[in-house]
Amino acid sequence: MLYGALETKGRRMLCAVGNENGQILERVVIPTTTPEETMPKIIEFFKSKLDDSEGEAMTALGVASFGPVDVRENSKTYGTILHTPKIAWRNFPLLNTLKEALNNIPVGFDTDVNAALLAETTWGAARGLTDAAYVTVGTGIGMGAMSGGKLTHGMLHPEAGHIKMSVVEGDNYKGHCPSHGACFEGMASGLAIAERWGKSPKELADNPEVWDLEAKYIAQALTAIVYILSPQKIILGGGIMRQAQLFPLVRKYLLENINEYIDTKELRNINSYVCPASLNGNEGVIGALKLADMEAAKEA
Ligand SMILES: [Zn+2]
Repeated sequence: MLYGALETKGRRMLCAVGNENGQILERVVIPTTTPEETMPKIIEFFKSKLDDSEGEAMTALGVASFGPVDVRENSKTYGTILHTPKIAWRNFPLLNTLKEALNNIPVGFDTDVNAALLAETTWGAARGLTDAAYVTVGTGIGMGAMSGGKLTHGMLHPEAGHIKMSVVEGDNYKGHCPSHGACFEGMASGLAIAERWGKSPKELADNPEVWDLEAKYIAQALTAIVYILSPQKIILGGGIMRQAQLFPLVRKYLLENINEYIDTKELRNINSYVCPASLNGNEGVIGALKLADMEAAKEA
């Protein structure tokens, strides 16, 4: 089957086509500006794939969207972007716009982080697991969650990037989240690192102090995630997690926080329990292929 996959990001839209095995066959990147400018380019790409004159036609699309976004299938505003700081995209009916432009083909829709987790549980590090979390630490911070084999939505979708942090002793940074100051994203996102230390995260690679503090905040959030979701695995993705030095520190502080209160085989195998994303940064778009596949099966 040929499926379309759209991963929306604050700075760019990744449009791709691929198959039911999660293989990406073609991709283009379109800058994210306003819906008026960006959507016609996205639609043009996918529309050309509906035509089977040059081979197989695309039969379904999956969308992995930045949030907050309405992922409740029975909602009137399903697939609409909600109160995002990207003002031009506020209340934009992303799903309906795509569906209408693409002859009403099946369109699967979820958050970018839920899609990334879906890719990891289908083809990646969490393959076969029914309870897992995917945390992305990049410019922003977000979490996708799966519980009992289902991606978690609830009244909206999880917003674990905004868990309140206890400020680490000696850290005088106030946090940059406009809503909460010192929440997880406010203290540990790429923007927070750059603002606190006055340099980009990449330039700080050789400064162990930076990563030790970063790991303490990530571990704090992971501790809450472990207690609340009881995931069988936590996958960490996003640009900041390319600092591989973070992993041993995050694992160490997570275990220190739990202080043996939970004793499971998963936690005893901490290197596998807290692990890096395994799909070369493609987990969002590959997850969108899976969303397309699931939606196609649903509508068949
Ligand atoms: Zn916040």
